[in-house]
Amino acid sequence: MTGEKSKAAIFSEVGKALEIREFNLPDKIEKGAALCKVTMSTICGSDLHTINGRRNEPLPLILGHEIIGTIVALGEGLEYDGLGNKLAIGDRVTWTIMASCGNCYYCRNGLPQKCEKLAKYGHTCSTQPPHLTGGYAEYIYLFSGTVIYKIPESISDEIATPANCALSTSINAVETIGLQEGETVLIQGAGLLGLNLVALAVEAGAKKVFITDVMQSRLDLAKRFGAHVCLNLKDLSPDEVVSQIRAHTGGYGADVAIEVCGVSKVVPQAVQALRIGGRYLVAGLVTPGSNLDIDGNQLTRKYLTVKGIHNYHPKHLGMALKFLEKYSGKYPFGELVGKVFPLSQINEAIKEASSGEFVRVGVRT
Ligand SMILES: [Zn+2]
Ligand SMILES: [Zn+2]
Repeated sequence: MTGEKSKAAIFSEVGKALEIREFNLPDKIEKGAALCKVTMSTICGSDLHTINGRRNEPLPLILGHEIIGTIVALGEGLEYDGLGNKLAIGDRVTWTIMASCGNCYYCRNGLPQKCEKLAKYGHTCSTQPPHLTGGYAEYIYLFSGTVIYKIPESISDEIATPANCALSTSINAVETIGLQEGETVLIQGAGLLGLNLVALAVEAGAKKVFITDVMQSRLDLAKRFGAHVCLNLKDLSPDEVVSQIRAHTGGYGADVAIEVCGVSKVVPQAVQALRIGGRYLVAGLVTPGSNLDIDGNQLTRKYLTVKGIHNYHPKHLGMALKFLEKYSGKYPFGELVGKVFPLSQINEAIKEASSGEFVRVGVRT
C-alpha cells in the first residue's frame, strides 16, 4: 500500500465547505487493526450537529461514522468477526462506531462504548496518522478494539450502512428500558432511531406504539413501520398529546417512553404521559445545554424510572444485523436512504441531508 493514496472530505471549520484532500494509505496495519475500502456512508443527524457547530469535535476531521466497506488489509491477530465468522480480504463488512481498549474501568464493567481511551469514527482529528478515521473518504483505518461484522448478503448497502449507528442504538434502547410484550410505548421522534424503534417495539410484542414528531412525512413513514398512533406536535398542544395517550391506555398513560428526537422540551410531555411506575429512556440529547424543565415532584410521586444511554455495546450491532436479516423485507427499511451522492459532491449531499426531506442521504465512493 506504500505510495497509494485515499481521497477524503475534510471538515475544518463551522461555516466552511468540506474540502477533498488526499492522504497516504498507512504503511503498516497495526496488530488487531484493519484497512477497509469504503463502499458507502450515510449522513447522520450528529454529523449535521457538528457541521452546524451545535457540538464540538477536534478539528480538522473526516466526518461520517455510518459506514460499510470491504476489507483491504487485516492486522496480525484479527481473524474473526463479532459473531465468530472468519474474516478475509474482500469481505463486505460493517463495524462498531468506536474502538475500545478492553482494559479500562468501563471496558471491564460492561460499558466499552464509554472506554477511557475511546476512539470514535468520524469524531477523531485527522491531523495525526493514520488520518483516515471517518466515512467520507475512499479508505478507512479501523483501530484495534473495533468489532467488525460481516454483512449478510441479503442486506443491501442502503439498508446496512446506517445499522452501525441508529439501529444498534435503538436495540440498546429497547434492551436498556426492558420493553416487554403487551406494553404500551411512546416514541418521541420519527427520525431513523424512532422508525427503527417502532419496528423493534412491534416485533417485541408492544400492545400499542405511539410516536410524536413535527414532520407529517416522517409520521406517515412511522405508520408504515407499524406505529399505531401518530401524533403531530405541530397540530396538537402538549396537553392534547398527553390526553390522547391516556385515552388509548385506559386513562393510565404509557408504560414506557423513549426520547430520540434530541429536543429537551419534549421531556416534560413524556413525564406527563407515562403511567405511575412508568419507565423513561432519554437517548437523543447529545448536544450540550439540553436543560430539562420538569417537576421533580412528578418523578417521586409517579415512581418513575428515568435512564439514559449513549451509543451501544458491540453485541448490539450483531443483533442489528440479525434483525435486518429477518425483518428488512417486512418494513420499508429500503426507502430510508432517499438519495446517494458521489464523494466529490459531499457538500451537495450535506445540503440535501440538512433539508430533512430524506431520513438518510448516502455518499458512495
Ligand atoms: Zn450516527
Ligand atoms: Zn477501555
